[in-house]
Amino acid sequence: MTAQLDVAALKTRLTGPIFLPGDPGYDTECATFNLNTPLTPAIVVGAATVADVQAAVRFAADNGLAVATRGGGHLVPRTGKGQLMLTLDRMTSWTIDAPNASVRVTGSPRWGQLMEPLGEHGLAGMNGSSPNVGVVGYLLGGGHSPVLARSHGFASNHITSIEVVTGDGERRTATATENPDLFFALRGSKGNVGVVTAVEFGVFPIPAVYGGGLWFAIDKLAELLPLWRDWAAKLPVQAGTSVGIQRLPDGSLLDDDEITTLLRHTVER
Ligand SMILES: Cc1cc2nc3c(=O)[nH]c(=O)nc-3n(C[C@H](O)[C@H](O)[C@H](O)COP(=O)(O)OP(=O)(O)OC[C@H]3O[C@@H](n4cnc5c(N)ncnc54)[C@H](O)[C@@H]3O)c2cc1C
Repeated sequence: MTAQLDVAALKTRLTGPIFLPGDPGYDTECATFNLNTPLTPAIVVGAATVADVQAAVRFAADNGLAVATRGGGHLVPRTGKGQLMLTLDRMTSWTIDAPNASVRVTGSPRWGQLMEPLGEHGLAGMNGSSPNVGVVGYLLGGGHSPVLARSHGFASNHITSIEVVTGDGERRTATATENPDLFFALRGSKGNVGVVTAVEFGVFPIPAVYGGGLWFAIDKLAELLPLWRDWAAKLPVQAGTSVGIQRLPDGSLLDDDEITTLLRHTVER
């Protein structure tokens, strides 16, 4: 399909690079944290500006290509021969408005990049459990913070403004009062409504957080799940906890002695 595409013409409209399958850099642009679904788009546009995003979306529409956006690569958009994929890493920035406890991000920051600068202001965002999840992909999916969800709800409810390039290539702003239907649809869409180039959202004056994760072998589940359930019921409303079942690298699990110590500690509490 790419043989018939006028990629050279698209190139003249862009500040950022284009990558085709086999090009140096194509694999890096398509690399993801989640390895379940390899990304194999017909073209990758490494957008450097909002105008790049608009040009790429219009080019895709003119050529009958679907558009996908790769953020932090944790969920992974499906891509293939008929798709143009955008990466927004070259547009990444963030501005913290500490007095108003608000952040504006552009492009594709990861939560781990924001946490430290926010902490310097005594602020915390409603990030999830992984520092390399994309801020935008997370917010578009609702965003359930293991630490703050019970006290603050879904992260997407704290979004105040979204800038998005829609399928017609137009740049639009969505807020509670400007394009309110678009604003509603984006918060939970996980990328189906447009290419989001910037998001503004609230953060919270939380100078210290207590949290962490424990990993057990799957054969401990029957023993530990009832203990976790009983312990969770006694937690204060500010605390959140969840259980996940995942494939992990070797060496991540607690050994039997560590589990015994933990159980004793849990029962004593
Ligand atoms: C180890 C791990 C821990 C996690 N922990 C949590 C957690 O605690 N709480 C929670 O709520 N979720 C959690 N998640 C889920 C994660 O938040 C979602 O999968 C999220 O959508 C990932 O976003 P991403 O940008 O990293 O991934 P991507 O796969 O790059 O993007 C996810 C989706 O969002 C779209 N998207 C990304 N950026 C844009 C953009 N700029 N414009 C339009 N669409 C875009 C993509 O097209 C795709 O459909 C976790 C996932 C993993 C793998």
